[in-house]
Amino acid sequence: MTLDELITALEAEDPTQVLRDGFANPHSYRGYYNELAFEPAFNVSVGEMLAAARDARGETYQGYKGGDYTMRGSTDCWLAEEGCLGETLGLLVLRGMFAGAVAADTTWPTVAALVAWLNESNGRGPHETAMRLLKLAEEVGEVSQAYIGLQGQNPRKGQTHTEADVADELCDVVVTAMVALHSFAQDPAQHFAAKIQRIADRVNVKAEP
Ligand SMILES: [Mg+2]
Repeated sequence: MTLDELITALEAEDPTQVLRDGFANPHSYRGYYNELAFEPAFNVSVGEMLAAARDARGETYQGYKGGDYTMRGSTDCWLAEEGCLGETLGLLVLRGMFAGAVAADTTWPTVAALVAWLNESNGRGPHETAMRLLKLAEEVGEVSQAYIGLQGQNPRKGQTHTEADVADELCDVVVTAMVALHSFAQDPAQHFAAKIQRIADRVNVKAEP
């Protein structure tokens, strides 16, 4: 499909939908330098894909072996890693992407907002990074504290915590790790998704659709 057809198809969809398999990073296609390719991407919103497609319109990219190629509304689109051959980005491929739409998940955007708030308050740098990693150890300790309290292991205190307390502390560990991950990954959500996929592939398990 052409770039304009792609833009029209995306405009007809809810921009907040997040697609498990989508695309990003427009570039000159390795197969035909004057044609446009997008790289496959995990967990991207329709809005982000639409922005990428609109950005590409009128943009000039360098071909694989040099030369400048300007993308127009009538330019054909492909799905391919930069520098690689790929497949035509047509209606069927796009439909397949929409079939994998998941409900908009605000988890990572919320964590990104928390990170921005922390950066604003505490600044950034090796010390702050170390503190965020230390915080992780603190939260893991709180999980132990809650579980010990749930078991009533100290006879003097008896049962001081509930299962919900343990669950809350586990959530703190997860969120704290997500925050710290921002110091080490350019795209934490994608890094996490790719890591989960590697773990699943290793033991050959698949998520139920
Ligand atoms: Mg806690």
